[in-house]
Amino acid sequence: MVTLELLEAGDCEQPEYFVNGRRTLGKLRFPALVARVGHPALGTILFDCGYGPALLESRSWAARAYRRILPFHLSTSSLGTADAVFLSHFHPDHIGGLRDMPGLPIWHSRAGLAELRALGSFAQAHNAFFPELLPLDFASRGRAIEDCQRVALDADWAPFDVAYDLAGDGTLRAIPLPGHALGQFGLLCHVDGEDVFLIADAAWVLENVTRLALPAPPGRLAIADYTAYTETLRKLRELKTRRPALWMIPSHCEKTIAAYVQRPSPVIGPSEYEKRFAEFNVLGMGLDEARARAQAEKGDGPHGAYSFGLSTGSSGAPGVFITNGEERKTWAKAFVSRTIGWRNVLGLRAALLLRHDNRLYAKQRLRLRYFSLERPLEDWAEDLERYAPTVLAGPPSALERVGTLVKLRPRILLAGGEAMAPGDSAALENLFGVKPRQVYQAKEGFLAAENERGFLEWNEDLVALQRMFVRGDDSRFVPVITDLRRSTQRYARYRMDDVLRQVDGEIVAVEGRLQDVLYARERLVFPDEVFTALGVRDFELEQFDGNRFVLRGNGDTVRLEELLGAPVERGSLRDRPLWEKRRRVRRAFDPESEWIVTHWLREPCR
Ligand SMILES: [Zn+2]
Repeated sequence: MVTLELLEAGDCEQPEYFVNGRRTLGKLRFPALVARVGHPALGTILFDCGYGPALLESRSWAARAYRRILPFHLSTSSLGTADAVFLSHFHPDHIGGLRDMPGLPIWHSRAGLAELRALGSFAQAHNAFFPELLPLDFASRGRAIEDCQRVALDADWAPFDVAYDLAGDGTLRAIPLPGHALGQFGLLCHVDGEDVFLIADAAWVLENVTRLALPAPPGRLAIADYTAYTETLRKLRELKTRRPALWMIPSHCEKTIAAYVQRPSPVIGPSEYEKRFAEFNVLGMGLDEARARAQAEKGDGPHGAYSFGLSTGSSGAPGVFITNGEERKTWAKAFVSRTIGWRNVLGLRAALLLRHDNRLYAKQRLRLRYFSLERPLEDWAEDLERYAPTVLAGPPSALERVGTLVKLRPRILLAGGEAMAPGDSAALENLFGVKPRQVYQAKEGFLAAENERGFLEWNEDLVALQRMFVRGDDSRFVPVITDLRRSTQRYARYRMDDVLRQVDGEIVAVEGRLQDVLYARERLVFPDEVFTALGVRDFELEQFDGNRFVLRGNGDTVRLEELLGAPVERGSLRDRPLWEKRRRVRRAFDPESEWIVTHWLREPCR
C-alpha cells in the first residue's frame, strides 16, 4: 500500500493579485510542499524538498537577486529520512533542500534538465534555475523519469493520456505538466484506494484550476511558457470538473494542503485494527507474528532495533506494542516527569507490579525492579518488602492485596490498568499512607496521568484526543486517539475500548471498558451507577445475554434491580488470580460492544 504525508519545508508570501489575478492587496502564504510518499518496494520518496539552507548561502548574483525579490522562510522541522527524491521541476523552492540529502537517488526530467543546462547564465536565472543548488554528485545519483516505463492512461484521466510508471505497478505515475517550468512533472499517487494528484506548480492555488483564475501579468513573468501553462491548466480543469472528488494538490496552495492534512479519516476500532495490524507498523508484521516475538522476548530485551511488548489484555489474547529505542526514551521521560517528578528521582527505588515484563519498563537509568503478577504473591512479597520501594506502581487490586500482606511506605503510589470504584483510592491510602495517583496507560500508549488537582491530564504532546460522547450524556465519552510521536506503530483516529468521565472539561475517571457497560432494556447502565446502587466495593456483577444478571459478593440488590429493571441472581465471589484485571461490572455478550458503538456514540469531536 502507498502512503502519503504532506509536509512543508519553508514558505514565502505572494501578492494574491499575482497568483490568481484577483484585484486585492492581500497576500497569500505559499508553503513549500514536500510530500513523503511511502511505497512498499521503493521505500520513502520525497516529492520535492522545498527551500533549504543552500539557497540562503549561495553567493551567486542570481540567487541574491532571487532572495531579494522573493524572500522566504526556512522551516526548522525535519523532513525525516527517505530513500529517494522526486523533483517536480528545478525551481529553488523545490530543489533547495537537495544538498542536505546526501546519497539519495534523484528522479527528475532528463529533457528539462538538459534544456536548462543548455541556457546561458542570464536565461538560467530568468528560469530561476540555480545550478549551485544541485549536489556535486548529481550526475551519478540522477534517475531520468523518462526512463521509466511509459504507460497509456485510461479514460478516467482524460485529457491526460500518458504517464511514466515509477514502480511498474501503477501506484505512482509521473505525468508531464508543461508550461510553468521546463521539465515539470506531476505525480499521481494511488494511496489506500484513493487517487491523489500532486500537480506541483501547474497551478499555484487550486482556484487557478477550478475557476481558471489566471495569474496577473507580473505573476506570468515567472512562467516559462505561458501558452503551454494555460493549456495544462485547462486539462487539469477538465479532469477536476469530471472528477470533483479527486484530490488535486498544488504545491503552494495552503488551503488544499490543509484540507488534505485535516481530511477526516474513518475511525478504526480495536478489532479492525488487530485484523489489519500489519498495515499499521513499519515492519508490516501481522499480529500473530508480533505476539510470538513478544512472547519470545519476554523479560530479556529486544533482539534488534525493535522491542515487542505484551499488554495484560482483559479478555482473550494479550495485545502487542512495538517500539524502537527512541520511542522508549520518549516514553520514559514523559512517564517520569508526569508521574514521579524529576525532583523525586534521586535515590529512587521503583517497583512495578506487572503481568508481563517489557523492555519499555527496563533500565532507563532508574533503579527499577519488576515483580511478576503471574507468580504467587507469597513468593515475592518478602522480597518486595526488603526492597522497600519509594515508588510503587501496579493495578489497584494487586496493590491492595500486596498492601494487606506486607508493610510498605512508598512516597509515590501509582495505580493503573484497572478502573477504580469510589472507595478504592481511600482503601489504598489507608494501606500505604499515601494517596494513589491514577495513570492511564494502555498498549496504545501513555495517555494520561493524574495531576496535582486530582484530574487525569491528557498527554497532548504525545497523543491527540478526540471524544465520542455517549448520546444523551455530556460527561461520558470514548477516546479516539491519534499518536503524534511514534512511527514504529501508528495509531490514527483509533477508537479505544474505554469509557471516560469528565466534569467541566476535566477528565475525572476511566470508568471502565465498553465491555463493562450493561445493556438494560432501552438504555445503558454504567459501572458508576452500579457502584452507587450497591454501595460496596467487594462484588462482581455480570450480565448474561438479555436480562440475566448475576451478583457475586455483597450489596443491596433492591436498588440494583431498580436500576437494571430486572431481577438479579446471587452467587458467591470467586478467587481471582493476581494478574487478572479486576472488573466488577461486566457484560458477557456483544464482546465488541457493537450496540454501543453503532447506536450510542456521537461523532468524534475535540
Ligand atoms: Zn515553480
